[in-house]
Amino acid sequence: MENCGWCNLSGEDKRFQLYEGTCWSVFLANEQDYIGRCILVLKRHCGSLSELTEDEWNELRMLICKTETCFKTVLGATLCNWSCLMNSFYQDPDPDPHLHIHVRPRYEKPVVLNGNTYADRAFGHHYALHKSGSIPDQDREELFRRLKEWLSLPA
Ligand SMILES: [Zn+2]
Repeated sequence: MENCGWCNLSGEDKRFQLYEGTCWSVFLANEQDYIGRCILVLKRHCGSLSELTEDEWNELRMLICKTETCFKTVLGATLCNWSCLMNSFYQDPDPDPHLHIHVRPRYEKPVVLNGNTYADRAFGHHYALHKSGSIPDQDREELFRRLKEWLSLPA
């Protein structure tokens, strides 16, 4: 799809790609309001979960297990909040959505990156919609390195 951002990712957009499977890619999100927040993006232009093929579902299931285990092992996450919203595409008069899924790790205990402490102050509640998602570049690099290293290990 020629006008779709997810179908036309640049090298810079892929700078923080953590994993590439057959059907899905995983990116560290720009917004790090919850440390480790990622986006799972279907590599095919498709607008809804209900249109996934059997192979796409199977790989998604594997990736959900893999990313949850990664967050728990590498960052000490307690659980994950998964969301597939797609709302912003429908602000366009002619919506052409591309399926992607957000995952926010949630933490009972704070995460420490390069000596900086990140606390999940709303733990046990819905994720906050207006929490700051900016973190220092060095913490983003450290986070990317740790997650990518774990995800690259043989299953
Ligand atoms: Zn697309």
